[in-house]
Amino acid sequence: MTTAHTATAPFVPLLIGGRLIESQTTHWTDIVNPATQQVLARVPMATVAEVDAAVQSAAEAFKTWRKTPIGQRSRIFLKYQQLIREHMKELAAMLTAEQGKTLADAEGDVFRGLEVVEHAAGIGNLQLGELANNVAGGVDTYTLLQPLGVCAGITPFNFPAMIPLWMFPMAIATGNTFVLKPSEQDPMVTMRLCELAMEAGVPPGVLNVVHGAEEVVNAICDHPTIKAISFVGSTRVGTHVYQRASLAGKRVQCMMGAKNHAVVLPDAHQEQTINALLGAAFGAAGQRCMAVSVAVLVGAARQWVPALVEKAKTLKVGAGDAAGTDVGPLISCAAKERVTRLIGRGIEEGARLALDGRQPTLASGCAEGNYVGPTILAGVKPGMSVYDEEIFGPVLCLAEAETLDDAIAMINANPNGNGTAVFTQSGAAARKFQEEIDVGQVGINVPIPVPVPLFSFSGSRASKLGDLGPYGKQVVLFYTQTKTVTARWFDDDTSGGVNTTISLK
Ligand code: NAD
Repeated sequence: MTTAHTATAPFVPLLIGGRLIESQTTHWTDIVNPATQQVLARVPMATVAEVDAAVQSAAEAFKTWRKTPIGQRSRIFLKYQQLIREHMKELAAMLTAEQGKTLADAEGDVFRGLEVVEHAAGIGNLQLGELANNVAGGVDTYTLLQPLGVCAGITPFNFPAMIPLWMFPMAIATGNTFVLKPSEQDPMVTMRLCELAMEAGVPPGVLNVVHGAEEVVNAICDHPTIKAISFVGSTRVGTHVYQRASLAGKRVQCMMGAKNHAVVLPDAHQEQTINALLGAAFGAAGQRCMAVSVAVLVGAARQWVPALVEKAKTLKVGAGDAAGTDVGPLISCAAKERVTRLIGRGIEEGARLALDGRQPTLASGCAEGNYVGPTILAGVKPGMSVYDEEIFGPVLCLAEAETLDDAIAMINANPNGNGTAVFTQSGAAARKFQEEIDVGQVGINVPIPVPVPLFSFSGSRASKLGDLGPYGKQVVLFYTQTKTVTARWFDDDTSGGVNTTISLK
């Protein structure tokens, strides 16, 4: 909802040139607690001039930041990780209030971002070039990994701590300056993280934040000074950002939507597998890009449906800050309406409603929240809307396969390639799955295989555009330009004469 700025709710500032400032826009959007509908604050839809001011501030700061010694950059991130740890409870509470997930899961959201900050502190070991000695007589060749300049990040609502932290720490640690555009639905915890980054010593102008939606994102895609954009969000918007920003000559990486399948073989450990599936399907109310949204039950595992349903019924739906809650609210009333509609469509198209979460049992005081409880649809097949679309809610679709080969064929035929998992006690089956599955991130008895930052996030196929992933080693290449130097130093006056060939002598 975009409204005139008339209410008394606090406003979320922009961060430009090291200063927190109020936007001059006339358009503001409410940030609403999804458990209570309370308006927490108002976020501006920044003007194009404000986007330009943020970019100019980043461009100015780049002149000195790019030459800042490695140790100095590292120490800022050492300090930053300490500050995030000290503020963990405050950050998690803020995140739960605006996003809805449980407090424990909100701490997990912050923690998975904190791991990237720790990684950024080791930048001296990551941003290393190569050297080949004597590639020709008296000639050495070496590479420099140099920062690009002003980079930008555009983030989704579902991980308002982790995903911004996937982006700006690594971009800044490699010597770039940054303009961040957080999700307009829950930018408050992101802002707090940026304030802490400034407190840790990130100099003015090195990190800037603008708020907004389509118009601001388009201004970022088009801005001639921005060299690279990292985007995380839906496939629809990510495809648009990739095309528009690539056309404007930028380096772009887009991590996008998903439909993650978990294959359950009959030899899997039943109780642990059911626990893992339910946690991965219903945690964060299914609003994770790596959520398990389809379980493919193979052979005799097809008989596990009643056990799955019984266990899912034990999950408690309620406010994220209430003790014992397993499944919090969806981000918005619109999201609840969409998920509810899709469940109805699934039933119309022939799926069997094994567990209906559309009217969940709630503790008193929860009537206002955007709640959908754990929902299980059985007999789901490709071609049904609930299979073909990303639901992004607490809905687990159950599909069936005769054999592991059939399950692999189903997953490889799905356009998405974000994550997948296999549950089995057979090493041979797991290895076959790992070899033959065409999905970028694979879990073996691990339901949400999001890699730690020693590696990179490596979604694939329709879940990703661009070749390098966020964080880890790949992102060092994304945020740097390799410069290759071929050098000779003359140590005598002997001249070989003019060489008109391509070869080095
Ligand atoms: P979204 O695409 O609606 O929004 C992402 C960003 O794009 C936000 O900052 C938003 O302001 C901006 N935006 C929205 N509409 C726009 C438009 N028309 N033009 C330009 N910019 C626009 O995504 P979301 O709903 O915030 O997040 C959920 C989606 O993100 C899901 O599809 C989920 O799978 C995906 N996601 C993917 C990953 C991954 O790593 N692959 C991680 C998290 C979330």
